[in-house]
Amino acid sequence: MTTEYLRDTPADIERAAEILRGGGLVGIPTETVYGLAANALNGEAVAGIFRAKGRPMDNPLIVHIAEIDDIQRFSLAREIPDAARELAKRFWPGPLTIILRKGDAIPDEVSAGLDTVAIRLPAHPAARRIIREAGTPLAAPSANLSGSPSPTTAAHVMNDLNGKIDAVLDGGACDVGVESTVITLATDIPTVLRPGGVTVEQLRGALGEVAVDSAVLHKLEEGRAAASPGMKYKHYAPKANVVLLKCTDEEFIGYVSERGGRGVAALCCDEDVEALRGVKTVSLGKRGDYEAQAHNLFDSLRRVDGYGDVVTVYARLPHTDGVGMAVYNRLIRAAGFEVIDLENS
Ligand code: AMP
Ligand code: MG
Repeated sequence: MTTEYLRDTPADIERAAEILRGGGLVGIPTETVYGLAANALNGEAVAGIFRAKGRPMDNPLIVHIAEIDDIQRFSLAREIPDAARELAKRFWPGPLTIILRKGDAIPDEVSAGLDTVAIRLPAHPAARRIIREAGTPLAAPSANLSGSPSPTTAAHVMNDLNGKIDAVLDGGACDVGVESTVITLATDIPTVLRPGGVTVEQLRGALGEVAVDSAVLHKLEEGRAAASPGMKYKHYAPKANVVLLKCTDEEFIGYVSERGGRGVAALCCDEDVEALRGVKTVSLGKRGDYEAQAHNLFDSLRRVDGYGDVVTVYARLPHTDGVGMAVYNRLIRAAGFEVIDLENS
């Protein structure tokens, strides 16, 4: 199939909506990452998402809506608890996904057989216009091949899915750069299953007690069921082998400089670039600027592969405060949980 390349114009948004109404697949911009959208109420259309991405069928999808009223209008959830209303008031439209008990309209393909559904109201104006014009909520995981870094530009989507999807709509580079925060309200204590642009600190400010699932920062224990099925899979990995170093800034520069040369690169910060002369570098942004690091993360991982000859890329283990937790969560998965601890070696 030929993938149509659409722009952020009224005519092209209408074209994207038409494809979606017809059961097709469209890569759409959101403020987090590009999503691969299909009509969330059409199980057959949604099955196409899994085929195009090579996504395991047991990994459920997020349903994207244009208004909070869509939840009731389309019978997406059984009820909307007060906590959900509070979160929606503070963080929607925006990078927060809320898990609720699912309503009758949700096909099994979307929820992967669970009795819950993940819902988000995105902030990107083009995303909301496409949902409105399509006249239906859209199921949309990240628009990458399963396992590779998520796409933050339309070019990334084309790299992975050209010829496998009906269209991509270019709405510019994504603002946040990492996927939404996922919080479940289907447990006794609201629990973060995936960190993102809305921070745990902000969620606690809204709800009081909020837990963080242990699989956010640690490898899922053998034999334990994943609260969020996506957490058990290898994710976000470039072709190069990502190795994380737990160390000071000086140790990082020393360690990587010693090994710099053929086949090696550093995923570093602006302040490191000068000291790492002689090593291939890709900078995530300034040290301590976690928003910038999140924004640049996936593009940087793809850039490392763009060098063509990088076998190993070293990065510092990020801090876990604020949006840093989202960067930590993605990088530790990209590294297959491989961390070299220089502080205790
Ligand atoms: P992605 O579509 O790539 O942004 O990934 C969506 C994430 O949300 C995956 O980790 C899913 O496992 C998770 N997710 C979606 N729906 C549910 C649900 N009902 N319960 C738990 N996790 C979910
Ligand atoms: Mg994904």
